[in-house]
Amino acid sequence: MPPRVIHDPVALRAACDAARAAGQRVGLVPTMGALHQGHLSLVAALGPLTDLRVLTIFVNPLQFAPTDDLERYPRTLDDDVALCGSAGVDLVFAPSPAAMYPPGFQTHVEVEAVTQPLEGEFRPGHFRGVTTVVNKLFNLVGPCAAAFGTKDYQQWRVLGRMVQDLSMPVEMVGCPIVREADGLALSSRNRYLSPTDRARALGLSRGLRAAEALWAAGERDAARLAAAAHEHVAPSVDRIDYVSAVDPDTLQAPPAGTTPTRLVVLIAAHIGTTRLIDNAELGASSH
Ligand code: AMP
Repeated sequence: MPPRVIHDPVALRAACDAARAAGQRVGLVPTMGALHQGHLSLVAALGPLTDLRVLTIFVNPLQFAPTDDLERYPRTLDDDVALCGSAGVDLVFAPSPAAMYPPGFQTHVEVEAVTQPLEGEFRPGHFRGVTTVVNKLFNLVGPCAAAFGTKDYQQWRVLGRMVQDLSMPVEMVGCPIVREADGLALSSRNRYLSPTDRARALGLSRGLRAAEALWAAGERDAARLAAAAHEHVAPSVDRIDYVSAVDPDTLQAPPAGTTPTRLVVLIAAHIGTTRLIDNAELGASSH
């Protein structure tokens, strides 16, 4: 059945209030649209936990820097709604920027240390935009559970921190990265890639596989694991923002002299005008 589509925040709150009053458990999947199977896997993860599933589609201007791809970010609402219909979404919320940030808007939510490295270094202000909009969506929807992809690994950690620190009554469901058969992580930004660039993008997942192989062979030195990934990424891309192996909780280098039992390797790199991110957890998964 096609989902109901709501554009007005007040109508969204009313629909979710009514569902909760009727005893339904409400689940939330925040997205920026241009939906793919990665997004739909988040909806599926909420299936057993919730009765009414809300998927939001909002290209959030607050999380884009002036030099980012806000204007050209793909907007495919009709296709997205059709996909939602076959994926178990009950309600799509697609607000305008003006509805979310009316004149006079001046309140933000900011998480500290875990937002600083990696994406924080290359996209200043990005996480402040993410945490603020997710907060607003939590307040409008009142979900008991919300699903996020570990494709955006640092975002997942930042939002987990926010929910814990501010005692938000939301169960955070982290979902594994959905990939194409050849290893490319699904992303709305993959639409920007020409066939040649798409082939080059495989350097990211190849780099992660190299680090995984080295970890499996017993390597525990974070710098050497990152270097193994870097070796595969560098020849394929135009520019690397970072290739790092860090502690999965703090996103900092593991303390000197310790042997980590878990790490996460994170990559951000540019191919032409497209910026791609990918990651892999080494050791026990933490979600
Ligand atoms: P976005 O629309 O890119 O903001 O992503 C919305 C949500 O979908 C975020 O929680 C992402 O981490 C998640 N997501 C995006 N791509 C994937 C993927 N390939 N596998 C799993 N989750 C994903």
